Amino acid sequence: MKSIGLQIIETYKKHLDIGLNIGSEGNISIRDNQKVYITPSGIDIKDLKEKHISILDLDGIKNNKIKPSSEVDLHLMLYKNRNEIRSVVHCHSEWASILSCQRKDILQFHYMVAEFGGRDIKCAEYATFGTKKLAKNVLKAIKKRKGCLMANHGQICVGKNLEEASHLSIALEKLSKQYFFCLLSKNLKMLSDNEMKEVLKSFSNYKLKH
Ligand SMILES: [Zn+2]
Repeated sequence: MKSIGLQIIETYKKHLDIGLNIGSEGNISIRDNQKVYITPSGIDIKDLKEKHISILDLDGIKNNKIKPSSEVDLHLMLYKNRNEIRSVVHCHSEWASILSCQRKDILQFHYMVAEFGGRDIKCAEYATFGTKKLAKNVLKAIKKRKGCLMANHGQICVGKNLEEASHLSIALEKLSKQYFFCLLSKNLKMLSDNEMKEVLKSFSNYKLKH
């Protein structure tokens, strides 16, 4: 099995290749018991090696000498408040960022919105990057769900493992693009509350079975 550091690097590079980030944008972390492994501050994705991954405890005390991503408080706050979360993926993907600049929640326009755990995907209120205020705003917007937009910034997704958080970040980017174009149409028909309720029910049954 691959080391945690390598898993993070491979996913981070994949996100670069598919255009979710450029340069040193975005950040990824994995929680392993009381330790958090997170991408470092200011190292270009293409130069990233396993030795550059920062390791901290849940209170942010460093276990090695690597300076963590500037959004480390955001990751730690999610882990501390939601014990089921084992991975966090933050990125500046294009369409999610466009919607985030309009400060729009993604409403029930497509049944796959339910994959994030509710009838909509919220947009967290704006705060300066890297601040505790931003972490608090995200926590408030994401609630018990698996992702949200971040006003004038980008998106963040969480999962029971890195695979799920990464998948959701790609799914959120896709939904954001679809929603942006649907909003331009006069013929957009939203799903009803009952229709969404049914989807949410089947999604939770699906999760129980698999
Ligand atoms: Zn960011």
